[in-house]
Amino acid sequence: MTKYDFIVIGSGPAGQRAAIQAAKLDKRVAIIERKTEVGGVSLHTGTIPSKTLRESVLHLSGWRLRGLYGDGYRVKEDITAADVLKRLHVTLSHEMEIMKHQLQRNGVKVINGHARFKDSHTVTATTSDGGQHTMEADNFLISVGTRPHRPDHIPFDGEKILDSDDILKIEELPRSMVVIGAGVIGLEYATIFSALDISITLVDTQENLLTFLDKEIVDELMYVMRDRNMTVRLGETVVDIHVEDNGHVITKLASGKNVVSDMALFAAGRQGATDMLGIENAGLTADKRGRISVNENYQTEQPHIYAAGDIIGFPSLASTSMEQGRLAACHAFGVPCYSRPETFPFGIYAVPEISMVGATEQELKEKKIPYEVGSVRIRETARGQIMGIREGMLKMLFSLEDQRLLGVHVIGVGATEVIHIGQAVISLGGTLNYFVESVFNYPTLAESYKVAALDAWNKLNLN
Ligand SMILES: Cc1cc2nc3c(=O)[nH]c(=O)nc-3n(C[C@H](O)[C@H](O)[C@H](O)COP(=O)(O)OP(=O)(O)OC[C@H]3O[C@@H](n4cnc5c(N)ncnc54)[C@H](O)[C@@H]3O)c2cc1C
Repeated sequence: MTKYDFIVIGSGPAGQRAAIQAAKLDKRVAIIERKTEVGGVSLHTGTIPSKTLRESVLHLSGWRLRGLYGDGYRVKEDITAADVLKRLHVTLSHEMEIMKHQLQRNGVKVINGHARFKDSHTVTATTSDGGQHTMEADNFLISVGTRPHRPDHIPFDGEKILDSDDILKIEELPRSMVVIGAGVIGLEYATIFSALDISITLVDTQENLLTFLDKEIVDELMYVMRDRNMTVRLGETVVDIHVEDNGHVITKLASGKNVVSDMALFAAGRQGATDMLGIENAGLTADKRGRISVNENYQTEQPHIYAAGDIIGFPSLASTSMEQGRLAACHAFGVPCYSRPETFPFGIYAVPEISMVGATEQELKEKKIPYEVGSVRIRETARGQIMGIREGMLKMLFSLEDQRLLGVHVIGVGATEVIHIGQAVISLGGTLNYFVESVFNYPTLAESYKVAALDAWNKLNLN
């Protein structure tokens, strides 16, 4: 039987990063991946394809330039599904090559097969032709990720009623779409398809969206979506959904409303892929969503079995999954690794995009930490005017006690990029003075920081 120092199950962002970290510590490492290609959900059905599709939509629809040339502006008339999906294959194969090469270069053994625990130190990988490899290791990482939640009462058919994997294979763009589930994935797709002038109805059982974000940013998103004629139905439950003979999808809501559309995207939740992993043989359990709980070092109830990425739940992002994988590998081999989860940024690639780092206003109020807000509308900046930006804002929260930056919240073009300035300042313990006294390139979106800081400075000096 082959013996490894570290066996990683699943080759998504958490698994890859953990495997490479362990290999760099000179450990004997194997990754078991049940799909024929490495990369996980992030590469094949999640992060990379959805962002590639988003980029194509924003380009072809002329979305970013409509503020300059009017709502009728298009780069291409009659955009088809093939147009918006064209770039996927190119991006995916390029990224896959990079990942494969990185694993090879670092000497990580990639085993294609479905992994299942035999006991807490042994796994069996079953290959597609039925072959079995049994392996032992001192340490394991479970990074098997999730798949779309597909409740029995939703008649998925891959054509009219789809999940977020199916959406990447559509052959025709619908004229109208109901999106069920206003979490990150639902919101991203709802707003991306709305940028193609597809009529969107977004439905969610919750009354409030994305409660981990700063409320003012969510309010801005709601305003922007409604301004674009998207219909947002919150606090509504889907009781039935079916396709009529004429091809219309009818979504019945508990309140008695019916939504008629050409297509339905069900994006309400994801299920952890622990069901066929035999975790019970390793003395582990999962919750009803298939997720595994871990301690602050990413150890499960069995200290030598770690878990990272989407399988451990929120925030379920590729970015944080990678970091969790790295930290788990460091801990497994007793190497001190420095990390500050409170400075992890969150990015939501809706249209407009959203990003945050640090505390929200709600959090500071709950903890009774006195703060001041500095904010700016992006259209008030010179770069915003040049780009014809109509929507979006940046806000910063500063401590009243020592003027340290506590949180940054951005919605609008470039949000997921500019957030890293705020992240750096928070990480280095910077204060309001940094922004007031620094020179920013002009005209830039980054200059929004300075304008927002001056807003906070004015408020502080008037008080
Ligand atoms: C539509 C969509 C858009 C997203 N956009 C973003 C974004 O913009 N930014 C961002 O940061 N995150 C985004 N995410 C989230 C991101 O994709 C996930 O957080 C990330 O992929 C999780 O990584 P992971 O390593 O936990 O697992 P995954 O990427 O889910 O990979 C798990 C791997 O384990 C394999 N596996 C499962 N069971 C077994 C088994 N028994 N044996 C062997 N192999 C197994 C699977 O085949 C898979 O390859 C998005 C997700 C979706 C669905």
